[in-house]
Amino acid sequence: MREMILAKTGELILKGGNRRRFQDMLKGNMKRSLKAVGDFQIYDQQATVYVLPEREDDIDEMVNRLSKVFGIVNLSRAGIIEKDMEKIMNFAPEYLSDALMGVNTFKVESRRADKSFPYKSPEISAMVGGALLDAFPHLTVDVINPDVVVRVEVRDTDAFVYAGRIKAAGGMPTGTNGRAMLLLSGGIDSPVAGHMIAKRGVYVEGIHFFSYPYTGEKAKEKVLTLADRIADYTGSMPLHIVPFTEAQLAIRDNCPSEHMTLIMRRMMMKIANEVAKKRECQGLITGESIGQVASQTVWALGVTDSVTDIPVFRPCIGMDKDEIVQIARKIDTFETSILPYEDCCTVFTPKHPTTRPNIENILKSESHIPFDELCKKAIEGIETINIRKY
Ligand code: ATP
Ligand code: MG
Repeated sequence: MREMILAKTGELILKGGNRRRFQDMLKGNMKRSLKAVGDFQIYDQQATVYVLPEREDDIDEMVNRLSKVFGIVNLSRAGIIEKDMEKIMNFAPEYLSDALMGVNTFKVESRRADKSFPYKSPEISAMVGGALLDAFPHLTVDVINPDVVVRVEVRDTDAFVYAGRIKAAGGMPTGTNGRAMLLLSGGIDSPVAGHMIAKRGVYVEGIHFFSYPYTGEKAKEKVLTLADRIADYTGSMPLHIVPFTEAQLAIRDNCPSEHMTLIMRRMMMKIANEVAKKRECQGLITGESIGQVASQTVWALGVTDSVTDIPVFRPCIGMDKDEIVQIARKIDTFETSILPYEDCCTVFTPKHPTTRPNIENILKSESHIPFDELCKKAIEGIETINIRKY
């Protein structure tokens, strides 16, 4: 039996004149994500993109991949049958038995794109509904609030039948909303932040500050895995690894310890800001959340932000840890994030960091180190890894 995939696009419908461009981007992203699986046909009509795999066996993996393509709200699998009323009535109960076994009520909705088909939509619905009632005596029809909606569509070439939907990633197609640079640590929050911004159609690059030998290969691998999880949804992700040891040692040895973390944060942001602009990113992304640690008080965030001249997106800013963890589990980063390898911040954390810094004092402390030079040197040492999923 052949099946096809129906991908429903959501918000695209709101975008007026841009809708065509967005849907074409989405179709391009879908094609790229499916290419390695096998051959298929793809076309769209209104807010649905249809995918017809050439090989029956490819459909599970195709559905799996499409469930991670941003811009698709939900997916359905539809069984394809010859355009013959008798055959449709025999096929529907068999194909939909799993979907209908555990429910009590249903209704049938039909569409007839081929106007030469001898039955009108309401007649198709009534006849298929009758066949389902005969096959499943436990069912009743409820047109107002059914447990399941069975859909029948008669096209020019054939007909298809489906019920139920699989929730997909939602959001907007990758590439429709510019580019941003994610400060990606090995923790729980920053991968979630990156995912949330990527979901809105922003292509995300990553930058990671690496303090060898205070942090080791395992820590780097962990960050690569996290970037990989984000790229599962966006197709690819360049990851810039910044050598940060020299800068951190300079800060540790020359700046007052209560300002150490903040100066380090400012240096990270400054470097990320410069790399972002070079890579034509329009914004920065961090995993910060108000009050989570000393460097994330509202005062500290202001001091950190003042080194940047592009917008800083902090999608976790108002979230509790358990809410962030919930998303981390959903996008499959949590188990990696909690692996115990130190990151460069934990190694250099002072005992009593300021929580209410003011910028004058920070600048005074910062003047003990060649801030700009250290930034420049770190940028020169960047190694870029291109993660490519499709
Ligand atoms: P996370 O769980 O994302 O590590 P956190 O609660 O540990 O966050 P901090 O260590 O204060 O918070 O870092 C705040 C933000 O700074 C992170 O969310 C991340 O965006 C960025 N960041 C921290 N360390 C690094 C690093 N080594 N490389 C790149 N970005 C970093
Ligand atoms: Mg961290």
